Amino acid sequence: MKLFTSFSLVSLILLFNSCTNEPGPWEDLFNGQNLNNWTTVRQGDGFRVEEGSLVCSGNSGFIFSELAGKTANFELTAEIKTTPGSMAALLFHTSEKHSEGAPVGYQVVLGNTPSKATEKMAAVKTGSLLGIRHNYYPMVNNGEWFTLMVRVVENHVETMINGVKVTDYIQPENPWRSPANGKRMLSVGGFGLETYSGETMVKSLRVRSLPADKTMKLTTEADWDAKVTQMAEQFFPLIDFHVHLKGGLTIDQAIENSQKLGINYGIAPNCGLKFPVTDDASLAAYMDTVRGKPIFRGMQAEGREWITLFSPDAVAKFDYVFTDALTFTDYKGRRTRMWMPQEVWVDEKQQFMDQLVGKIESILSQEPVNIYVNPTLLPASLMPEYDQLWTPERVARVIKVLKDNNIVLEINARYKVPHVQIIKEAKKAGLTFSFGTNNAAADLGRLEYCLQMIEECNLVPEDMFLPPLQEDKPVLVKGLPAKITG
Ligand SMILES: [Zn+2]
Repeated sequence: MKLFTSFSLVSLILLFNSCTNEPGPWEDLFNGQNLNNWTTVRQGDGFRVEEGSLVCSGNSGFIFSELAGKTANFELTAEIKTTPGSMAALLFHTSEKHSEGAPVGYQVVLGNTPSKATEKMAAVKTGSLLGIRHNYYPMVNNGEWFTLMVRVVENHVETMINGVKVTDYIQPENPWRSPANGKRMLSVGGFGLETYSGETMVKSLRVRSLPADKTMKLTTEADWDAKVTQMAEQFFPLIDFHVHLKGGLTIDQAIENSQKLGINYGIAPNCGLKFPVTDDASLAAYMDTVRGKPIFRGMQAEGREWITLFSPDAVAKFDYVFTDALTFTDYKGRRTRMWMPQEVWVDEKQQFMDQLVGKIESILSQEPVNIYVNPTLLPASLMPEYDQLWTPERVARVIKVLKDNNIVLEINARYKVPHVQIIKEAKKAGLTFSFGTNNAAADLGRLEYCLQMIEECNLVPEDMFLPPLQEDKPVLVKGLPAKITG
């Protein structure tokens, strides 16, 4: 009888709130003492309560709660701690019918262990909507408590980590879903916790209903949404590692664009002689402006002097480092900047090409970088002859230096390089790829050329780059050479 009364009271409150514009009262989904409000659907290796935390451990476990009723619009907060190798998910709009092979509702990823793209699901980070929108950048470390917030209003889903939004997803009217994931949809339902590996701690898990608001139903582009969701389902990292804050683009505008499109961004300042980031002090000042932002932090190493301007530890604060071979001193001692027609000297085409390949080899074999960007780009006057000038022998030399030095080949969206044949050769040689725009203005586009190359070159998630672990960063492994020769 008592149970019936409290249940009716909760229903009444929910009913009342659905008729007002006020959020409902906060309700604890987890009481800090036991799992009384939860149904164990699959035990996996177990769920237990330890020192006030709900410990979710092992794989394939699933517990379910409808304590807060069947909720449509809600806000949820929880304190979470992940551990090395742990992976779990918090589910909403789910039911007891949820299973790994056929998900019901949405799964918010809980995982912070640095991983390679080849590890697929393990590489997806906290706050992602599994199989829908994936974030790969690190926001928190294992062993640190953080606050997760999930808010759903109508067709709009937001997730936040420590108050910073990391996912902003609008479910279209008829979203693309593969047959197996047909129930990965917004509806009404309960909450769940699911385990994949390791131990994840959860406490202060509470939820409140939010009022319905049909007026705010948001629209999105169905075709683009389908494309992004298809890539997420295949665990293909959709990341633009070569974004600059140019043309007035602010970091917050870039982040908003990133979340709207579902493309993760790596934002990179230009670092080198006479650039804004030019020594350890200006590098540290820049880091202060991007700390805690939901992006990757890239370093564009400029000119050939950059190796003398920074300490390895300062460079290693970036998630990754990239450079191009557009700036060098030519055979007559002229400083060449290939993107500036007035600063490039082509005395003879074949000789220029041989010189360029030599420069690419000397730069990439000596400078401790992760990615070769704007790759194979030629001066504007030579671009019409790109396919003839990039002979198989020259291409083979560039691929070899990349392979020998474990450097990633960027597929550049703005310049549409390398051409398809070179990418195919590079894939055959086992190179890894990244996508990059190198925007000159505020408009970043949508990696159109890169997406086209996925199709034409049959790129798969295993072909793609994710930033290395701290101890594997080339600048810490190789160090910085005193001088570049050749
Ligand atoms: Zn750039």
